[in-house]
Amino acid sequence: MTTITLVQGDITRQSADAIVNAANSSLLGGGGVDGAIHRRGGPPILADCRKLRASLPHSRLRSSGGTPIGKGLATGQAVATTAGELDARWVIHTVGPVFSSSEDRSELLASCYRELLRVADELGARTVAFPAVSAGIYGWPMDDAARIAVETVRATDTAVEEIRFVLFDERAYEAFATQTR
Ligand code: ADP
Repeated sequence: MTTITLVQGDITRQSADAIVNAANSSLLGGGGVDGAIHRRGGPPILADCRKLRASLPHSRLRSSGGTPIGKGLATGQAVATTAGELDARWVIHTVGPVFSSSEDRSELLASCYRELLRVADELGARTVAFPAVSAGIYGWPMDDAARIAVETVRATDTAVEEIRFVLFDERAYEAFATQTR
């Protein structure tokens, strides 16, 4: 049986089998959750990310500054690395879609959660802590990000026992609470 729980706080302080990172395609670190995970988890996570990245195909994407990303993880996909110093066995990295008001990218955001749970199942993770993917730097409106996250994990078959959404602030917590009431 899978239970959805909500916590307000910093995901890097959580204890879980796996902690999800809202990464970017380069897997080389960034701001938000990504920066916090690499800061607290230490160099082993980045070392693993570099190795993984080397095995990925070239991405056609460019960074927001216009430089080609080179090898990268496609939006909607997920991969696992060590968790370094975090209180977890694995970090599962996903690349959320950047929000667009002219194009519906919801399916890509749903894909992140399905892929995260697929990777968690492959690893044998039973407790997984998730941030609100895409709802920070990538600009997704929180209420909609929460709806897609909760609807998707509810509709996905998984052996994960606890899906724990770790929401950074009260506003995000309330958005998820509304979806789980
Ligand atoms: P994205 O680039 O996918 O939008 P962000 O990391 O910018 O990812 O933000 C995703 C969500 O995670 C946002 O709601 C942001 O406020 C929140 N967040 C940022 N840092 C943390 C943290 N340390 N723990 C939990 N949530 C965080």
